[in-house]
Amino acid sequence: MYARLLSSLPIGRLLTWLKQGVEEHTMRFCTAVNCMDGRVQRPVLDYLSSLFMADFVDQITEAGPAAVLAADPESDLSKSIFSRIDVSVNAHGSVGIGIVAHYDCRGHPKPEAQQKDDLRLSVAAIRVRFPRQKIIPLWVDRHWKVSEVGFD
Ligand SMILES: [Zn+2]
Repeated sequence: MYARLLSSLPIGRLLTWLKQGVEEHTMRFCTAVNCMDGRVQRPVLDYLSSLFMADFVDQITEAGPAAVLAADPESDLSKSIFSRIDVSVNAHGSVGIGIVAHYDCRGHPKPEAQQKDDLRLSVAAIRVRFPRQKIIPLWVDRHWKVSEVGFD
C-alpha cells in the first residue's frame, strides 16, 4: 500500500519532503533571555548563535529579565519566562540559554555590579528548572560588546 502511495507521488515532491525532514532535524536552536531594549538584540543574537553554533536564537524578552528572575523566581512574570524557555528547550531542543543584562538598562536601573549579581541569581533560578541546559550569563557594555560574566 505504501509502495503504491509512494509510486503515485511525483519524485520531486517526495525529495522535497525528505529534504525538509532532514533540515528540521539539523536546525540548531539556542535561547536568549534578553532585555527588550532594541540596542542589545543584534549583539546578543550574534554572540549566542556563534557561541552555541546555532542556526536560530529563540528570543524571550522582558524589561530587565535578570531583575525579574532575581527578585522572585515564583512571580507570574518569572513563570512566564520559564514557560517560554520550556518551549524553546522542549519543542526546539535548544542547546543552551543566555541570560542578559546590560549597560543603561531602564528595566534594571542598578549599578553594573548589582546587575551582575542578579544575573548570577537568575542563572541559579533557571538551572533549578532546566538542570541539563548550559546557561551563560552575559553582560552587554556601553559599546554594545557582549562578554560572559564569571562566578568568582
Ligand atoms: Zn534593558
